[in-house]
Amino acid sequence: MVKIAIDGPSGAGKSSIAKALAKEMGIVYVDTGALYRTIGYYVRSEGVDPKDGEAVKKCLPDIHIEVKYENGTQCVYLNGENLGDRIREPEISMYASAVSAIPAVRDFLLETQRSIARANSVVMDGRDIGTVILPDAEVKIFLTASNECRAERRCLELKQKGIEVSYEEVLADMIERDNNDKNRAVAPAVPAPDAVMLD
Ligand code: C5P
Repeated sequence: MVKIAIDGPSGAGKSSIAKALAKEMGIVYVDTGALYRTIGYYVRSEGVDPKDGEAVKKCLPDIHIEVKYENGTQCVYLNGENLGDRIREPEISMYASAVSAIPAVRDFLLETQRSIARANSVVMDGRDIGTVILPDAEVKIFLTASNECRAERRCLELKQKGIEVSYEEVLADMIERDNNDKNRAVAPAVPAPDAVMLD
């Protein structure tokens, strides 16, 4: 069993590298951002303010998340429904970022992530994989790139999924989200002391 952690800000290329690596090594790729996006999606569908920790916490008992692998692709099911690309909408990114700062949400998703890594060799990407989720990972990478480069990549990715957005909007959202992620009190998106820094 091997555990590889890839952390870093959005759009740096974590998922592209993690997917390619998982394929090459014949191991499982885990996109942990999809889990926070799924909670963000639920919270939005309930009309709950994603920054209201108490209100979001009250939603958690009604959320059942399952991670399945279908034709080698990770699918996240929310209460039995595969959400597909609906969790990729820019508005859901902001919801995911807001709910991810709530400690109860992080606790809620901790065991889901660790149990996948107990049952499989994994390449897991996220923000706190090397620091919190898999502190004993054999390989830890913290992947970064300039804001402009990351926003360009994210724009292209969204366009390919048929989601129309402007570069300026993506850049602004990305900077706001990264700041939230880096500066939150719990599990901030910072490199583990033993991570390899890769620009
Ligand atoms: O990776 P992705 O951009 O899909 O993640 C969406 C949001 O989920 C991030 O902006 C971050 O706030 C949160 N996240 C997190 N911890 C992770 C993965 C994602 O806080 N391990």
